[in-house]
Amino acid sequence: MRRDDANLIADRPTFVTHLECSLTGERYEAGRLHGLSSAGRPLLVRYDLTAAGQALSRDTLEARPTDLWRWRELLPVRETANIVSLGEIETPLVPVPRSGGANVLVKDEGRLPTGSFKARGLVMAVAMAKELGVTKIAMPTNGNAGAALAAYASRCGIETIVFCPDDTPEINVREIAMQGARVYRVNGLIDECGAIVGKGAAEGRWFDLSTLKEPYRIEGKKTMGLELAAQFGWQLPDAIFYPTGGGTGLIGMWKAFDELEQLGWIGSKRPRMYAVQASGCAPIVKAFEDGVEHAERWENAHTVAAGIRVPKAVGDFLILRAVRESEGKALAVEDVDTLRAVDDCAREDGLLLCPEGGATLAAYRNALAAGLVDAGERVVLFNCATGLKYPMPTADQTLDKNALPDLGTV
Ligand SMILES: *Cc1c(COP(=O)(O)O)cnc(C)c1O
Repeated sequence: MRRDDANLIADRPTFVTHLECSLTGERYEAGRLHGLSSAGRPLLVRYDLTAAGQALSRDTLEARPTDLWRWRELLPVRETANIVSLGEIETPLVPVPRSGGANVLVKDEGRLPTGSFKARGLVMAVAMAKELGVTKIAMPTNGNAGAALAAYASRCGIETIVFCPDDTPEINVREIAMQGARVYRVNGLIDECGAIVGKGAAEGRWFDLSTLKEPYRIEGKKTMGLELAAQFGWQLPDAIFYPTGGGTGLIGMWKAFDELEQLGWIGSKRPRMYAVQASGCAPIVKAFEDGVEHAERWENAHTVAAGIRVPKAVGDFLILRAVRESEGKALAVEDVDTLRAVDDCAREDGLLLCPEGGATLAAYRNALAAGLVDAGERVVLFNCATGLKYPMPTADQTLDKNALPDLGTV
């Protein structure tokens, strides 16, 4: 939202009442800078939903432009001037009848600013950082989060330093640098990059914006759940397949459904939530299968789907709780099946998925074969970034304009 757009959405009071430790329920004051709770767990933002429901009806909402900011009453930003927007549109639900099935829709998050759904989380976290007076931010990334942070933070003059594993996709590293952040390639995985960020934060050098280590990225990612409810006419799909790294989106959607039910906008029926991971990095799947609440660090993590190569997630118990309450599952897929799914979807349905999106399609196919889902059920797969950011197979056939072959053979 640019300042001169402020007439579209005037300043409104926020309906935030307080923040709450996701593990112990301990209360924290709103309007102050927070990281993790004293128990070392993510903080969740709580709202006065009765008052929000009086200020915003479903009809009012539906009359607004369909972007992320239509949900303003359910979001934490106090002053419109703190919102630094690059155009956070509602993302479409694209059918993939051939590679998926008649009732399979891809929520294509690749259309968002910076080409991934990290924009949802970072537009909110940066707005709140700005609102709370932060001037310097650091963050670990597998690529897309760093790109979104760089874009939003540079746009509002917040200094940004990003640390990524040294094999992060090249285009991600370059887009981070190009969008005004200082970016360092580190000889370690994302949690090891996170440790560097944590060290600097403890030394008072910057604010730590790591996934779930500040409270507002969840609120941005929550809009995926809000949007789905509106797009499905205030029903929800039967199942959601979500590529799970830190799990912010899955946790955020689960929170959104809860808030919508409290508003009386949806009923108590929930989609089954399927947390999809790669078999080379599947800590949540292992914890799910072991029946435990917290996941152990996954050693030697490897997968083509960089965005879900997260060996250890601080919100592990929140992911597992949502998956179990929803009667879903955590599913691991092989990289070959992921790559085949990307290929099939592009060739048969004309939609270029990112590898993480391909993982959800592969997981859906496995789930269908295993009888976990029925072909008649309405299913949403999340494609969290544009496929254009990732390496593609070569295509190097040439033609000599001066020695054309029989064109019937091309
Ligand atoms: C970050 C990312 C994910 C994982 O999202 P989380 O909410 O952190 O689990 C999946 N896919 C892509 C493309 C990503 O960039």
